[in-house]
Amino acid sequence: MRRRTFVAMIVLIGLFASPYALSAEEQQRLMPATIIRVLDGDTVEVILENGARQRVRLIGVDCPELTDKDPSVRDYAFAAAAFTRELLEGRRVWLETDMGTLDKYGRLLAYVWTAPPADFAEEKIRDCMFNAILLLEGYAYTYMLMPNTKYAEVFVGFQHEAIMEGRGIWGTMTRWIHIIVYVTNTGKKYHGDGCRYLASSRIPMTLAEAMWRRYERCQTCKPPYWISAEISLE
Ligand SMILES: [Zn+2]
Repeated sequence: MRRRTFVAMIVLIGLFASPYALSAEEQQRLMPATIIRVLDGDTVEVILENGARQRVRLIGVDCPELTDKDPSVRDYAFAAAAFTRELLEGRRVWLETDMGTLDKYGRLLAYVWTAPPADFAEEKIRDCMFNAILLLEGYAYTYMLMPNTKYAEVFVGFQHEAIMEGRGIWGTMTRWIHIIVYVTNTGKKYHGDGCRYLASSRIPMTLAEAMWRRYERCQTCKPPYWISAEISLE
């Protein structure tokens, strides 16, 4: 009995001590930066405060690869990349590193905060950490690699939520992602089959790829479209 009480105390101390307070060391690890380019769903390029350009790989998440051999996987990658670009490009962010800071490609491994968090409570993570948003919206899978596992447990919970709700990769996205639309050699719009603007050239492409390649929807033929980011960040 006494032993059980002791164990309970340790658990309580653990809960209060770790994720909720921001230590001086943690504050120091938050680096302001501006996102200048989105390379794919989980990789971006930033300018740091000192003017240096840096590639950043988001920790704890993995989006489908733009270079995957399977075209159907690439469509998920296009969608994820377009989503990240829509929400992050040009945006000021705060980068939090974990235990390891650079990967073998020289990319900074970071959690990308869209607002500087006062604490690391789950609600803050849910609302303002882009890594978490990718998981919650179903654009990425959890990808834990030692030693960068600070949010591992929370991330798994967020992924589970996305699966249960059928978000993104887990449901809604599969309905539209591979829809074929058409672009032309020179135009900036994408079209539905039979549009009069397709008279001279007609290149088929999935809707997901058209979004990533920045084609806009033709207002004449009104092909299917997709709002990648229905959420708004703080
Ligand atoms: Zn058209």
